[in-house]
Amino acid sequence: MDLRCLVLLLTSFYSVPHAVTASDWSYWGENGPVRWPGLCMTGKKQSPINIATENTIKIDLGALKFKRYDFAFYGKVTNNGHSVQVEFYGVPIHLEGANLPSTYILEQMHFHWPAEHTIDNNREALELHFVHYNERYGNVSVASQHEKGIAVVAILFKLSTEDNIDITPILNATESISGGVGKSAALKGAKIIPYLFLPKDHTTYYHYDGSLTTPGCQETVMWFILTEKLSVSEQQINIFKMIGTNNGTLSFNYRPIQALGERKIYHHLDRYSAATIHSHNLCFVFFSFLLTTFLFSL
Ligand SMILES: [Zn+2]
Repeated sequence: MDLRCLVLLLTSFYSVPHAVTASDWSYWGENGPVRWPGLCMTGKKQSPINIATENTIKIDLGALKFKRYDFAFYGKVTNNGHSVQVEFYGVPIHLEGANLPSTYILEQMHFHWPAEHTIDNNREALELHFVHYNERYGNVSVASQHEKGIAVVAILFKLSTEDNIDITPILNATESISGGVGKSAALKGAKIIPYLFLPKDHTTYYHYDGSLTTPGCQETVMWFILTEKLSVSEQQINIFKMIGTNNGTLSFNYRPIQALGERKIYHHLDRYSAATIHSHNLCFVFFSFLLTTFLFSL
């Protein structure tokens, strides 16, 4: 076989249209979200979603408990080609409480710019995902195959003119890994306290059952989106946008909004109960009575 023939053969082989595999997906172009395979295309409980606050069910599901989030950790930051991911070293960090059926172990945290979840169709500048797995499954990949295997706490960041200094150590490391996929950097000289990435009020949240927002989009995720937001500056977002991938710089990394379908979204409010409404109603009845009596006495 001569060289020209070989080249022709190889070219035709590589130009055959191929399905997007789990490893070569992207946020745009021919391997973009509409081509993501499997459950990403066929699922009925996909994420992210828009949270229409008027339609949420107000309920006390119990507070989330963040165990050892207040410890200081060494860690590393990785450019995985789809996000900037932070892993912590040392003692395990746990999530408990709410309607979680078990203890969940923090695997990693990563960022999406702009945010993936929208609130009343409003998209914020940044969303942080704390990814935890159910300890009974031993690791995150086994857990992601089981119902309620994964619990993600999402924090939204709104745009501000001020830098958020708590993210600075992560952004410094991000600058040194933007050159290529798979690059990692230790968080030098700076311990990270995960608690700093939670808003002051971390007891009020939206909750729904959904999926991973990346292929294979497994529908095993309990989502907790905190209602209070943190802030980030445009300059800081621009550092994330410089992350290099096999498909150009990562100018954005959010998956489009998915259909809510039959699902319900809960709005957890501490100590909220039907009795609260009942007593409000009683109060209203009493006030109406007073007003009526007053009007008739005129
Ligand atoms: Zn994510």
